[in-house]
Amino acid sequence: MRIRCGGTLRPVTLARVDLAPLFGLQGRFEGAVRGSRCIRCGNETLDGPAYQVLLVEVVRAVMMHDHILSNDKARFLRKAWLGLTQDELAGRMGINKITVADWERGERPLSKEHDYELRGIALAHMLQRRGKGRVRVDAGLASELAQVLTAPRRLTSPRRRGPYVIRQRAA
Ligand SMILES: [Zn+2]
Repeated sequence: MRIRCGGTLRPVTLARVDLAPLFGLQGRFEGAVRGSRCIRCGNETLDGPAYQVLLVEVVRAVMMHDHILSNDKARFLRKAWLGLTQDELAGRMGINKITVADWERGERPLSKEHDYELRGIALAHMLQRRGKGRVRVDAGLASELAQVLTAPRRLTSPRRRGPYVIRQRAA
């Protein structure tokens, strides 16, 4: 397969994927992801199915995160996962659009209640997609995520520990 630069794409297994260009998340995924690399310019891309698998892995990691959602994580759930505008999410949550915009700009943290609510909407979306064949969500994952909603949530931001790194779950 030839691409714009005139190079040829070769299938590769990517050991790490930068999440910023894909999802707007400051961090990376480490694991084995199916993709392609251009033999001329080195540009790496994900296969469509691999993108869907990675998306679910990242959603899982973000939802299991035991601190209040940071601005980029909240935006990731709304935009990349739920596919909602700020307006639409605000409508679903019965809040002002300005509040959502403020979270995403990092001007105001999510309240504990709004954090739970956003994760709840994200979980409902995952359960909805389960069984539709587009995304495989096993029952273990679904119940694991459900536990997230009842777990205590730390109100403070995590101490800076370098980039947000998501590691692939053991198969
Ligand atoms: Zn190229």
